[in-house]
Amino acid sequence: MQHRPLSIFICCAALGVALGCIVMHKHYSGPMTDHFDGTRFYNQDRLSEPSFKNFLAWLITRKPGVWLEQNHMPLPAEKPPACVEGTRLRVTFVNHATFLIQTEGVNLLTDPIWSQRASPVWFAGPRRMRRPGIMPEDLPPIDVIMISHNHYDHLDAPTLKRLACNHNAMVITTLGNAQLIKKQGVARVVELDWWEEVAVSDTVSIVCVPAQHFSGRGLFDHYKTLWGGFVIQTKGGTVYFAGDTGYGPHIEQIAERFRPLRLALLPIGAFVPEWFMSFAHMSPADAVQAHLALGAQTSIGMHYGTFPLADDGQEDPVRALCEILSKTDLYGTEFWLLKNGEARDVPMAE
Ligand code: ZN
Ligand code: ZN
Repeated sequence: MQHRPLSIFICCAALGVALGCIVMHKHYSGPMTDHFDGTRFYNQDRLSEPSFKNFLAWLITRKPGVWLEQNHMPLPAEKPPACVEGTRLRVTFVNHATFLIQTEGVNLLTDPIWSQRASPVWFAGPRRMRRPGIMPEDLPPIDVIMISHNHYDHLDAPTLKRLACNHNAMVITTLGNAQLIKKQGVARVVELDWWEEVAVSDTVSIVCVPAQHFSGRGLFDHYKTLWGGFVIQTKGGTVYFAGDTGYGPHIEQIAERFRPLRLALLPIGAFVPEWFMSFAHMSPADAVQAHLALGAQTSIGMHYGTFPLADDGQEDPVRALCEILSKTDLYGTEFWLLKNGEARDVPMAE
């Protein structure tokens, strides 16, 4: 048990650091859109965004579930290949929201985090309970890194710094994050608004798509940078990386534009209590609904079991997902959960 004055001191110090980070950071400025008013970004369903009062109500009524450190888990013996050619699609689950996606000669990473905490400081904040499934030195040369939004468990500055030293990757992110990413030594950063697209090779392009979430790394920067997901378009089919998101109108919009999907990477964790979390984080039931709505041939669950971020216990998302899947007809499609570091070849969409 932590000594109370000490924990208060630690919290104040953490807040001070976070505040300092933000004061030094210039916010995004750009033309107004239907989801940006010149100062802050909005969700499509903005009226349902949780209030600060809701957040306080959650804080004082929290009942966090059980988490155990599982950093002893063995790493898989097989290392990822340097390159995967043609329409073969190989996906490796590092853990949390970090995947290595290899196809058509391009190696892509999603929201890479190898740090021990998802936090601005080393001594406080959500701690890693499961080691990454691949060591950073075992990664093949990375061509593209996608960063969905600036929360600490998705935009991890120390990881980006390390990747910038060892790889020559283009970083693709949502509006307002380039300055912070460039500060980590990344030379090529492309910021995209929702529905904007960038080509990353002759056959692979990436579209930024909406998510229902929020952003912020400190006290005064909530909603000041954009959040989103990414759709990777290839000759061999389409891959959707949802980032952090609740189930919102964007799911139908993405389905309309891109279905059928070959693969959807969907969050299933940080969903309890649902009255507060469901706006910004899908539950396992939402993820299964999204899988069906998107017309995905295969989906893989993510964003669970690694960092305690909400009140679900470490095993709750997996347990809930398995229960829902046992009662749901997926019409010949599949919803996978991968072990730490597990890699699989993803079948073509029919
Ligand atoms: Zn987030
Ligand atoms: Zn997250």
